[in-house]
Order: sequence, then C-alpha cells, then structure tokens
Amino acid sequence: MKSLELENVCKKYGEAVAVTDMSMHILTGELVSLLGPSGCGKTTTLRMVAGFVEPSSGSIRINGRDVTKLAPYERNTALVFQSYALFPHMTVAQNVGFGLEMRKVGKAEREEKSFEALKRVRLDHLADRYPRQLSGGQQQRAALARGLVLNPDIFLLDEPLSNLDAKLRGEVRSEIRGLQQSLELTTLMVTHDQEEALTMSDKLVLMEAGGVRQSGTAQDLYEQPADAFVADFVGRSNVIPGRIEDGQFRTEDGTSMPTVSGSSVDARYYTVRPEKITLSRDGDGVMGTLRERLYLGAQTEYTVMVGNASISVVTATPGPDDMRASLRVGDAVRLAWDAASARLLNN
Ligand code: ATP
Repeated sequence: MKSLELENVCKKYGEAVAVTDMSMHILTGELVSLLGPSGCGKTTTLRMVAGFVEPSSGSIRINGRDVTKLAPYERNTALVFQSYALFPHMTVAQNVGFGLEMRKVGKAEREEKSFEALKRVRLDHLADRYPRQLSGGQQQRAALARGLVLNPDIFLLDEPLSNLDAKLRGEVRSEIRGLQQSLELTTLMVTHDQEEALTMSDKLVLMEAGGVRQSGTAQDLYEQPADAFVADFVGRSNVIPGRIEDGQFRTEDGTSMPTVSGSSVDARYYTVRPEKITLSRDGDGVMGTLRERLYLGAQTEYTVMVGNASISVVTATPGPDDMRASLRVGDAVRLAWDAASARLLNN
C-alpha cells in the first residue's frame, strides 16, 4: 500500500524553480531517501510533505488522503531533524510527552504513552535522565521516540546524522535503520550523504536541479546508472568521454575500450567502477601509466592515465610478494575488466 504519494509536484519561488515535476511514492513500512547535491530540492520536498511549504502545483497524498492544502498539524507526520535538540531542562520522558501535552492529553495517558514509546526505542530505563546525560545515539533515539509517541503515518528525517561524528554516525545509522525496520515505520529521509542513503534505504530518489534523475534500490542505481551524473554520484565511477566507432567505444584520444557488442551508437560516456578493474604489470588489457598510488589500509587506490583519461582502480592492498607491491609512479601498467561490467551512457 502506498503511504505517501507525490504527483507532479512543483515549487517555484518567483522565477526560481526549487522542485519540478516531482513524482514518487513510499510503500507502507519503507524507508525512502531523497539524495542529491546541495540545492537540488530535497529539503523543499520534505517541507512540502510536512506542510510547511505549499506546492505551486501537483498533489500530495498520505494514506490515500489528499493533504496538499492541509496545515502541518492536520497531517499526521513527525519531523525529526539533526538540530531537533531535546529540551535540556526536561527529562527524557517529559521531552517525549511534550507533543501529547500540546495536544491536551491527560497526565496519566501521557505518561503511559511516553513510557511505551521509550520502551520501543529501548530507552525506558533512562526515562528520568536529562538529555545531557545521554550519548549522541541515545539522544537521537529519544528524538525518534518523541515522534513515535504521536503515532504518525509518516516519519520525516532531515539529515538525521549530520551533526554526529564519523564513528557514532555508523552506529546511529544502523540503530535508526533497525528501529525503522522492526517498527515498520514509513519514512522519508533527506540526506546528501550517499553512503547513508545506500546503507539505510529501501529505495532512493536521486535529485538534481529540482528534478528526479533516477529512483530505485541502491543496487539499481549502482549497477544501472541512467546517466553520467548518477554513475558519479552514487558510489564512485570512472566516467570517460568518447564515442562509438566501428562498434567499439573509443576515448577522445582514440583508445579502444572493452565494449559489449550491439552498443548504443549514441553513447557519449563509458563508465566502469574502480573495483571492477584489475591492474597488472603486463598481460592483457588497456595500456596506461601509473600516476598515483594511495594506500588506504585494506585497499589501495591507483590512478592510471590511459591516454588523457584518468582512471581509478581500487583493489585489495597487495601482499609483499605481489608484483603490484613494487609498482612505482610512472610505471607502465595494464588494466583489464569484463566488458559486461562497463556501461555506456548517452548523457
Ligand atoms: P541542501 O542540501 O543544501 O539543504 P536542498 O537539496 O535541500 O539543499 P532546497 O533547500 O530544497 O535544496 O533548495 C532548492 C532550491 O530552492 C535552492 O536553489 C534554493 O536556493 C531554493 N530555495 C529554497 N527555499 C527558498 C525560498 N524560501 N526562497 C527562494 N528560494 C528558495
């Protein structure tokens, strides 16, 4: 069942277009991420769903009900965002009960529901603490409980992890995802962090310049990027300009790339992921020159010039006996990959 549907939603500020012809949906219990570079329209979309921004055209439905013109309090959504600081002078339980108090729910019922919500995020044992006595992850869970207590149809998460440090972010990420899945919370999340989006979402909607470039599962976007923008934004990829000649893709300086037959004649870019390429001193493959080697611990990243195209290769760091361990910048190398793991893109 579709819990949230956006149909041809547009938002203009005067002449400026923030969101254009946006259509998407979220099935009940799914987490869908809006992903994209700064200014692409993610926050505007989220705010239109919450009801803080009115669309210029198009419609928004929550559980089948048209909410396009409704005020925020008339739609049953809960917004959790990074700067959604808990009130410092209230205990965790009081923070969680606050929304109910605003809705004039009596004390006994409020306490019961707050406790219930805290139990669901496994914070009931810390109900009497103050926010400053909680870890960053626990604070985020308390913020989630504050939404949960209102039993919303949709959770809206706005960059929920962006003010946590890198280590904590990983923990809280799986924490939020775990809760979202076990409680089957229908969730729309905004993030500009592709790793966050890839690891947490059932589906992603990748936006650029106010519009949807591609939507689908993380795997869809990673394995079958629709265009060069998607290939480069979701995971990293080598995106090499060139053209098809005699059924082969040739880079701008004429180097021929492994190409699947029957390729689109309109192809303008060739894309292959760094981890799909093997690098050797000699043997078969495209010839190149090693320009840089970056030791990343478990992995090593090589930058190889093939003509005037720069190609990244990521491999497990070679052991001391591996020929590749002795490679020096400036050495001639060979790059090989399966033509089937490359993609041709028309734009
Ligand atoms: P970020 O990741 O930086 O938060 P975003 O993808 O969330 O970016 P939005 O905040 O939705 O992007 O903004 C989309 C576009 O709409 C931007 O070009 C922005 O400048 C413009 N915009 C947003 N709000 C307004 C406003 N109130 N008035 C005029 N233009 C606006």
